[in-house]
Amino acid sequence: MAIQDRVKKLIRPEILTLNTYGVVDPGDLIKLDAMENPWPWPEEIKHAWLQRLEKVSFNRYPDARAMGLRLRLGETMGVPVGMELLLGNGSDEIIQMILLALAKPRAVVMAPTPSFVMYALTAQFVGMEFVPVPLRPKDFMLDIEMMCAAIRKYQPAVIFLAYPNNPTGNLFESDEIETIIQATEGLVVVDEAYHAFAGKSFMPRLPDYKNLLVMRTLSKLGLAGLRLGMLAGDPAWLQEFDKVRLPYNINSLTQASAEFALEHFDFFQQQAARICEERTRLAANMAGLSNIEIWPSAANFILFRVRGKTADDIFQGLRERGVLIKKFDGVDTLLEGCLRVTVGTPQENDVFIKALNGLV
Ligand SMILES: *Cc1c(COP(=O)(O)O)cnc(C)c1O
Repeated sequence: MAIQDRVKKLIRPEILTLNTYGVVDPGDLIKLDAMENPWPWPEEIKHAWLQRLEKVSFNRYPDARAMGLRLRLGETMGVPVGMELLLGNGSDEIIQMILLALAKPRAVVMAPTPSFVMYALTAQFVGMEFVPVPLRPKDFMLDIEMMCAAIRKYQPAVIFLAYPNNPTGNLFESDEIETIIQATEGLVVVDEAYHAFAGKSFMPRLPDYKNLLVMRTLSKLGLAGLRLGMLAGDPAWLQEFDKVRLPYNINSLTQASAEFALEHFDFFQQQAARICEERTRLAANMAGLSNIEIWPSAANFILFRVRGKTADDIFQGLRERGVLIKKFDGVDTLLEGCLRVTVGTPQENDVFIKALNGLV
């Protein structure tokens, strides 16, 4: 049998139809495509960090429960008393752990769309059904009637709500999120990946709801390379998810580096504040261009569309001018013609604005 036939015979059909998660090689381009913090660490902080890493015993397995890191994260992130933390290799891995534990036959994962792609993708990986519920077309807010009707119809095991939402950048109405938490018997995971730029959180509400979990990550704050995500919630839930966690999923370097970074948390918050200021300036500059439609953002990126131009025109034109952003054309009908730019340094944003100005 030819190798392709063997592959087709053994691999699950839903995997055969998938594409590998595409990551563009940025080369020399200004990288405004992945919501990374653009600022490096000052030399003295970097130096202290390297000294800390010298103490790590690479010949030993990491602390399997990452106790030191979890304690510090709990304090820094304001996890309420009585709630616990589960750590993942990025919040991507946490989504995977949650779904692995919930993947009964015919169990449903629900999320408003467009939203973060890993909810739907991971549902497919573990063999769950994904039910998308469209956001309102103009402002990308929740269509609460449609959400509640879908909850009644599909009885989802879990609903993911990105708060703020990616790629639209907006915060859903908090009372509508509460309506959803109350309307479902399933879990609601409020994904606060952009918390540092949003100033709003469901973390303090954890004790109020037995089906609420709050997910965070250090990625967008400035530590994307470490891959550290966390899930906060009642230990009754977390101890079940912990059973599908691979042993030692948080490596020693990440544990040591994240603990060190949290000791300098003020520094990251100051960077986040700078990024928010830059977001305001970038949005104002973009809004000043003709033919541009932009959406308000509570995150470190801005979604926009250029009237009379395809997303591909703009994407390629920016690329030729040295800037890499993300295009969403063809992904979701609501995102027709849309692109997403990450807030960079003032210099990077100026290059972007100048390039965009030449294209609109
Ligand atoms: C980027 C992002 C994540 C993934 O974060 P990692 O911790 O880097 O895996 C999760 N949720 C949303 C909404 C995101 O935009």
